[in-house]
Amino acid sequence: MPVTQTLEADVLRRQDPELAEILLGELDRQSTTLQLIAAENFTSPAVLAALGSPLANKYAEGYPGARHHGGCEIVDVAERLAVERAKALFGADHANVQSHSGSSAVLAAYAALLRPGDTVLAMGLSFGGHLTHGSPANFSGRWFDFVGYGVDAETGLIDYEQVHTLARTHRPKAIVCGSISYPRHIDYAAFREIADRVGAYLIADAAHPIGLVAGGAAPNPVPYADVVCATTHKVLRGPRGGMILCGSELAERVDRAVFPFTQGGAQMHTIAAKAVAFGEAATPAFTAYAHQVVANARVLAEELADEGLAVITGGTDTHLLTVDPAPLRVDGRTARGRLAAAGMVLDCCVLPHGDARGLRLGTAALTTQGMGEAEMARIAVLFAGVLREDIEGKKAREEVRELTGRFPPYPG
Ligand SMILES: *Cc1c(COP(=O)(O)O)cnc(C)c1O
Repeated sequence: MPVTQTLEADVLRRQDPELAEILLGELDRQSTTLQLIAAENFTSPAVLAALGSPLANKYAEGYPGARHHGGCEIVDVAERLAVERAKALFGADHANVQSHSGSSAVLAAYAALLRPGDTVLAMGLSFGGHLTHGSPANFSGRWFDFVGYGVDAETGLIDYEQVHTLARTHRPKAIVCGSISYPRHIDYAAFREIADRVGAYLIADAAHPIGLVAGGAAPNPVPYADVVCATTHKVLRGPRGGMILCGSELAERVDRAVFPFTQGGAQMHTIAAKAVAFGEAATPAFTAYAHQVVANARVLAEELADEGLAVITGGTDTHLLTVDPAPLRVDGRTARGRLAAAGMVLDCCVLPHGDARGLRLGTAALTTQGMGEAEMARIAVLFAGVLREDIEGKKAREEVRELTGRFPPYPG
């Protein structure tokens, strides 16, 4: 069903034209600009339908078969289905699909394993750690004692020796692996070994790569980590939300850490939409998608390097890449502004060597639209041309419109 049908189909338009205009405006923005934000994607109309369903009305505190509210017999089936699909997809003994977001999944993982004041070793925020990995502005930094590991200043790669040394020195209760901008596969076995040597729990925050894991295009952290936290809305292409995977011995602690410790009623419409997304992710079409996402990111990285940008770590294994635009004599923030004006939407990010901001790009959304290597090459030329200012802004914007016109995220 075309997405606009939900809107045009009247109800909202008639009752609240002001808001309907806003939704259509956003749909138009998403359809006519290039979504290069590495954390974004386009969910399917089926996922959107579940999100907009009457399951949104249902209160369901607790877990299937053990709710604090009546009338949960049908939503219980939806949650059981989501849990079973997640377990099968990732080979996990246990799945909790209730976390409202990636951050609340991480909060619950900490609540399951740690006490306030415990030491945690995670990637430092200035190297690509997430807010929940010890930012002083976040619960993580306020309630736990975080120690940060970095990446090698030359190669941009995780220095597993350094992680081991820090673990031996600080004896953390838990080690977190996962990042918002690391473009390479994470060596979960190496992290497991370090955690075992110092008696720490291993928490994998796989918010970014979990969709690639589902499609067999990235290593699975489940066999290695005590607890895996993830989002369902990045490469995985589901609704905005979180999820936790673990072994059966931690199942009860994890479940209690989600509800009642960190949240109340589960969002049953979102859980149903997660079930739809897990179903989609189990298909051969999604496996092909995940591999195409990586192939596209590789081409984008190569072509941007050819255009003179400095690609951090020299390339990517995943859906995301980070680049330093400095060789084109433009800083990250200015670059983001120029690209936005041309209709190329992306984020700034930290760079492994110093204070300057780089740019983070991802190919999950473009690939969902059906773009392939040829389009990536064209985007790279346009990207660099905009940064060098040898393509006029208006001309670049027209090219983006032409490209997005051929690959509508929601055809029809
Ligand atoms: C995206 C992300 C999160 C948080 O997800 P939200 O749903 O935005 O709260 C946590 N950790 C990592 C590594 C992420 O990339």
